[in-house]
Amino acid sequence: MQVSETLIRTVVEQVINQVRQSSAAAATSSAPAASQSSAYGRYGLFLEVDDAVRAARAAFEELRNRPIEHRRRIIEHIRRISIENAVELGTMEMNETKIGRLEHKIAKLQTLGEKTPGVEFLKTECYSGDHGLAVIEHAPFGVIGAITPVTHSLPTITGNAVSMIASGNAVVVNPHPSGKKVAAEGVRRFNQAIHADLGIDNLISLICEPTLETAQQLFKHRSVALICVTGGPAVARAALNSGKRAVVAGPGNPPVVVDETADLDRAARCIIDGASFDNNLLCIAEKQVFVVASVFDAMMSAMERAGAVRLNAPEVERLTHAALSKVGEGSDVHFAPKKELLGQDAHKLAAAAGKTIDPSVLVVFGETTKDHPFVQTEQMMPFLPFVRCRDFDEAVALAQESEHGYRHTSIIHSRNVSNMTKMARAMDTTLFVKNGPCMAALGLGGEGYLSFSIAGPTGEGVTTPLTFTRERRCSLIDDLFILGNPK
Ligand code: NAD
Repeated sequence: MQVSETLIRTVVEQVINQVRQSSAAAATSSAPAASQSSAYGRYGLFLEVDDAVRAARAAFEELRNRPIEHRRRIIEHIRRISIENAVELGTMEMNETKIGRLEHKIAKLQTLGEKTPGVEFLKTECYSGDHGLAVIEHAPFGVIGAITPVTHSLPTITGNAVSMIASGNAVVVNPHPSGKKVAAEGVRRFNQAIHADLGIDNLISLICEPTLETAQQLFKHRSVALICVTGGPAVARAALNSGKRAVVAGPGNPPVVVDETADLDRAARCIIDGASFDNNLLCIAEKQVFVVASVFDAMMSAMERAGAVRLNAPEVERLTHAALSKVGEGSDVHFAPKKELLGQDAHKLAAAAGKTIDPSVLVVFGETTKDHPFVQTEQMMPFLPFVRCRDFDEAVALAQESEHGYRHTSIIHSRNVSNMTKMARAMDTTLFVKNGPCMAALGLGGEGYLSFSIAGPTGEGVTTPLTFTRERRCSLIDDLFILGNPK
């Protein structure tokens, strides 16, 4: 997240002041054009799933007859709007969802605009030989149905739209109801710019009043060729059971292991950077930490040196009651984060624990047992439970247990390559980060490209334009092999 940080900081300070002065007014003004009934039916804004899918299908047919260069131009519009309007749209998202951190809402839109892969990712493969030439191209599916989370309402749509359109598809989005206004406003701006430049409307269509029923309609719609779901366990299950091909970016509960060879100060800084990003809303963010006993106390001190504030045992228990509640029935009873503290600042969590701390503190943390609800729950708030482990093997075993088989993300801080290898094999996660904050796995401070839909359960990994394509092979028999004389 080094990119444009100074710029972001300056702009954000101005915006925060404005927001504080007029949050009520800002909330009203965040209502998109969709709130006026005349706005429906164009620029991607729809009330009915059928209408949205029909419009997206028409847009797909139009795009199909255009050169790849037009896809490039469309993506350029999405990138530009995402970057240029990051402050305004990020503020709108913060006002509407009321979770996370404003500076990170802005940074997410900017970095998605900069780093999501586009048409350059589509590579044609070729086989040539005695019998001629076979060309394998990556073709679009058509209309894709996308379900997006409240944790990154517009960013997920932005990333999905770039990847899906780069590969020639259109998309209909059923956003999370708590982030629907910013979703609609972003989609409206994207479509308006695309339409003004290329005359194609509704390539990104959106259900403006999304419900579970409209999600189900999208799953079942005959003209939706593929679904892409980004969200928690319930929607991941629903997508897998939908009977339609699905790309499922499901939940995570990423554990961190710190062994006795780790650079503890670096580990502490990385853990704070990752776990505090957007107040721990990222599905890849550090959620619980397992430290070998020989460096446990030193690691707790390193966290304090890096600026995190430690809660004692009674404070951790008070926070647990305030932040987590039991949900579900029968054998499915489990803890879940309460809305009041999900995605809130560390000082609010501390207050709930009965401790006053400086509002600038990014993370609070404390020692817990291995079975503590904060260890087992995807808490999505900047409190980190630390578990003291006998040795490295126990740390990895507990990390694996706490990840619940999601195979999403895990992180190690170590200088021991054998330990890194051992943990990577045991965890079997889609993302495995060594000696960095979680975001490094998505190219933010590490190598690689960015997407906010990481498809673990269905295996596509960090989604790219290729994720949303079907292979087509075009064979020419006995000609165009120019290297020899097979006859
Ligand atoms: P959520 O599961 O509550 O909602 C996600 C979306 O699914 C929303 O649009 C919601 O309306 C819809 N939905 C929920 N249940 C549904 C059902 N039964 N049928 C159809 N649609 C349904 O999640 P959230 O709170 O918005 O987001 C946080 C969750 O998403 C976390 O679990 C996080 O790990 C996960 N997530 C995963 C990724 C990834 O790339 N793997 C990225 C971001 C978030």
